[in-house]
Amino acid sequence: MLNIVLFGPPGAGKGTQSNLLIEKYNLIHLSTGDILRGEIAAGTQLGLEAKSIMERGDLVPDKVVIGMISSKLDANPNANGFIFDGFPRTAAQAQALDSLLNEKGTSISRMLSLKVDDQELIKRLLNRGKESGRADDKDENIIANRINEYNNKTAPLKDYYSLQDKLSEVEGIGSVQDIANRLNEVIDKL
Ligand code: ADP
Repeated sequence: MLNIVLFGPPGAGKGTQSNLLIEKYNLIHLSTGDILRGEIAAGTQLGLEAKSIMERGDLVPDKVVIGMISSKLDANPNANGFIFDGFPRTAAQAQALDSLLNEKGTSISRMLSLKVDDQELIKRLLNRGKESGRADDKDENIIANRINEYNNKTAPLKDYYSLQDKLSEVEGIGSVQDIANRLNEVIDKL
């Protein structure tokens, strides 16, 4: 199986690149952000609980997102592989993911981490806020909080995968196709 953690700060382009990678490598895209927004749109109990947390730009509790990923893995027993987008975001999530995959006799193949500077991130997110109406993209304070959460809780996961010799950092500035080519180059060597 090809199991990729597509990593990077909010606005790094994980969603855009995931859509290209799933086509090219026949993978299943698991985006915790998309799943959570789906729950909110469907008005479920889980969505109700997540909504205010997401609107502040805080992280949803580990237990909730780990449960979501676990059921998506169970729902796709014959997958060729997965792209994890927006997950894991904490050490507890990374450990849970390793053990869920281990139970299925597989593991993470590689973490691909997109590098984009803060100024460019803020510009992209504010633009997306105008186009998509996403509440957490409209306000600079909320964006700053998300970047902060990323730097404090999520960025350290690069060390977690680096210690397993599974980290590749990829420049996330350039055209969508340029960045896709850089990601493909790493994956094709696996
Ligand atoms: P972005 O990476 O652009 O911020 P996402 O769609 O990945 O956007 O996430 C949006 C929000 O959803 C996050 O700010 C957070 O509140 C919540 N969220 C998504 N994934 C996770 C996760 N793995 N753990 C905790 N919270 C999450």
